[in-house]
Amino acid sequence: NADHDSAAEQIVQDIRSGDRSALARAITLVESKAERHRLLAEKVLDQCARTGRESVRVGFSGVPGAGKSTLIEKLGMRLIGDGHRVAVLAVDPSSTRSGGSILGDKTRMEDLSRETNAFIRPSPSQGSLGGVATRTREAISLCEAAGYDIVLIETVGVGQSEAEVAHLADFVFLLAVTGAGDELQGIKRGVIEYADAVLVTKADGDNESAARIAVQTYEAALQLFRDRDSGWSPRILAVSALEDRGLNTLWSIVSDYRAATKTSGYWDENRSNQSVYWLHASLITEIQESISASAEIREGLARLEDRVRNGLISPRSAAAAILKSFLKLDHS
Ligand code: GDP
Repeated sequence: NADHDSAAEQIVQDIRSGDRSALARAITLVESKAERHRLLAEKVLDQCARTGRESVRVGFSGVPGAGKSTLIEKLGMRLIGDGHRVAVLAVDPSSTRSGGSILGDKTRMEDLSRETNAFIRPSPSQGSLGGVATRTREAISLCEAAGYDIVLIETVGVGQSEAEVAHLADFVFLLAVTGAGDELQGIKRGVIEYADAVLVTKADGDNESAARIAVQTYEAALQLFRDRDSGWSPRILAVSALEDRGLNTLWSIVSDYRAATKTSGYWDENRSNQSVYWLHASLITEIQESISASAEIREGLARLEDRVRNGLISPRSAAAAILKSFLKLDHS
């Protein structure tokens, strides 16, 4: 135990010194499912729990091809130019691939990955959506301990991952593609509820007038939603990463949001609520991972799956039986 304490202290010291490979190793440590890494990972995370109070966490959600990585790279370069240190992380529950694009992949952000003040990390690849997002939450905290004051979180806009990103970020952008008959997708799927701003991307060339129409469509649609807890009215903006248009405005929207919600107290209140959310999410992840770490329980679970499949036992009793045998295990 004392060994763990000093090892954890060393790791945190290396992270704080700005050593990017130490940060990458620490993230690998917290992502590890190996039992021997768990205690050390917990100690490292505990020491980083109080950092990041001054950071800004921004989510970018959009279907593959919406222009996430192009925009994040351009924005990241700009923020670094302004003296920030920028970390780019990803939540992608469909493992590392989705529609051919790899989220948070360095080769998709070549300029940014060459910058010493940038840190890019792809999505943790294994586990349930909750598990993947929990690990990303931990990576955020390690990046902030390493002095990254801006964290950009990329997520693919399919399924539930944008709901998770709303629990990770202070502010969420929904990226909408024009010209593919897709303008209303985010609205229909309810994704828009999580967005603090909608970015109509690729507003250049032949796409410009389509982008203008899309902006109007979103403006009309957003009026149908009730006010947010944050008191913030979502913004809609057409941007072009290619032609570097709208990027200044985009970031000033985040700054306006921060100023307004810091004053109202919502910013800090939201952060605290998010921490409690991650306590509950981590508890579920812990239970799932602990259960599958035991060969005995795994076998029991496989047998019960068969019985449930054949209607010999209800899912509820099967779950209770697994929990009971898990609690009986010697956990020392
Ligand atoms: P992601 O899958 O959401 O990360 O999307 P990408 O950033 O990889 O972009 C998908 C495609 O759209 C690529 O071929 C980009 O070159 C192109 N693209 C991205 N941003 C823009 C833009 O602002 N204007 C135009 N015309 N094309 C863009």
